[in-house]
Amino acid sequence: MVDAGSLTQNVILLKEYHLCRHCLIRQADVIRRKKAAANTDDDIDDDDNNKIQGEGRVEKRTCYLCKGLFERLDEIAKKALLVTKQYRQFNTFVVGATLPTQLYEREDALRARLKIRGRESIKNHLTRELGVRIAKMLRKNADYSRPDLTINIVVGKDGDIETSARARPLVLLCRYIKRERGLPQKAEKCPLCLGKGCNLCDGTGLNDSESIENIMTKHIVKITGGRSPKFSWIGSEDPYSLVLGKGRPFYAKVSDPKVRKPKQHKFVQAGIEGRIMEVLEEVPYTPERFLVKTRIACSCDRAIAQDDIKSLRKSLAEVQAKFENRSKIVVKKIHSVYAKRIAEREFALTIVADGGLPIKQFVGGEQYIEPNISRLLDAKCKCTAFDILKVDFCRL
Ligand SMILES: [Zn+2]
Ligand SMILES: [Zn+2]
Repeated sequence: MVDAGSLTQNVILLKEYHLCRHCLIRQADVIRRKKAAANTDDDIDDDDNNKIQGEGRVEKRTCYLCKGLFERLDEIAKKALLVTKQYRQFNTFVVGATLPTQLYEREDALRARLKIRGRESIKNHLTRELGVRIAKMLRKNADYSRPDLTINIVVGKDGDIETSARARPLVLLCRYIKRERGLPQKAEKCPLCLGKGCNLCDGTGLNDSESIENIMTKHIVKITGGRSPKFSWIGSEDPYSLVLGKGRPFYAKVSDPKVRKPKQHKFVQAGIEGRIMEVLEEVPYTPERFLVKTRIACSCDRAIAQDDIKSLRKSLAEVQAKFENRSKIVVKKIHSVYAKRIAEREFALTIVADGGLPIKQFVGGEQYIEPNISRLLDAKCKCTAFDILKVDFCRL
């Protein structure tokens, strides 16, 4: 308990500092408690400040704590507004600030001396005041938990102000169709920024050689005005595979997007057709289950008889393929099978299976997978090519 006497003492001490109205109110517990001790409970007002700051005299000295920062709220808010201009679609924002350490040190020392505890920090106070001003100017709301835009104010030692802004990442569910063979699915990272996005890679984070990831990135960056999208692929294929039907789905998480509701949804380049299907809040946490229809071209080291085809159809229907992945046994179900003899030593399989079945391994059987085509035919078989005909999420 602090008695009224020592509170009065603290108020006297507070008078020694020249504080602006904002910085004074921030320490106001001292004043409140003094009033409580005197059995009044009206809030601090201008009169009180003036009294404390010198019995009504208006002094034009710089504030001991903020060094005039709070006098510049409107100027700073206007400067912050400029950096929001490039963001064309956002509803909510938050203001963050980095202040020089001397500022905290001064306030800490003052509060230690006056035994002021549990009051708002100068940084909180500043960002709150700026937030109110910016909200009014933008006609948008502040949101602390999940803002679309984060505005950053950096105050230098000499009071110089730098402002920047960054948008919350955008998550897109996309699909691509690949009608020409040859392009690899995944890209290599930009050698300079290693994926962060820089001027060399034009913000994509990838190197130049063409890939599906590269093409998707380029268009998604252009459409959203964002940087270095990160992909979560739903399955994978070979460079020589085609991807048909509605295409392969994938998620793209785009950093610092300038729009949140892209207008353009479709793009085509080098036989690759991309499409933005949905704008989502997050990439799903658990990997989604999906079904893949794959056409597999197989070769065999012996002649294939019609009976072999029949037995494949029979033994693969509704079978569970088991294999090892990172020392865990994984089970993928084959939902349907269609087999056809193509030439003396060639045949084709069209299967619908759980996503993630390793096709080449499933045909060749060199690494552990049970059942596998080589074993079923008791001959050496090989997957020569495979095309993705359809990829569907199995949403239960
Ligand atoms: Zn101040
Ligand atoms: Zn780069």
